Amino acid sequence: MPGGGTLGFTIRLWKELCRNQRGGVGPLKNRTRAEAANVCICRLCPSFYECGEILAFCMPDGGKSICITSEVGCVCPGCPVQQTMGFSHEYYCTRGNDQEQAGKTGGGVET
Ligand code: SF4
Ligand code: SF4
Repeated sequence: MPGGGTLGFTIRLWKELCRNQRGGVGPLKNRTRAEAANVCICRLCPSFYECGEILAFCMPDGGKSICITSEVGCVCPGCPVQQTMGFSHEYYCTRGNDQEQAGKTGGGVET
């Protein structure tokens, strides 16, 4: 098994998929939530709670989790999906996907 194990492999696969979509950030928007969920690192996050949801809450058709409610850390800034999609937020599971957080401030956790 090469270094990085299964997660390392899926991250490399994700990056290769994105590299094949020439033209920068725009075409990367065509990646699906299911593809992103395969490399999502939410399970490594202290805020994560497993309840069988599809991951990649950051994606346009993602959004808030139905079962994660506590914000005790977020590893999204280190995720390959975040980097390749050009996302710039965090706590997608509690505050909404990247578009929601970019477009409005009233849809998430009150601060
Ligand atoms: S940026 Fe966060 S929510 Fe999106 S795929 Fe990565 S770890 Fe999951
Ligand atoms: S979206 Fe961020 S805070 Fe929520 S589980 Fe994923 S990494 Fe953790």
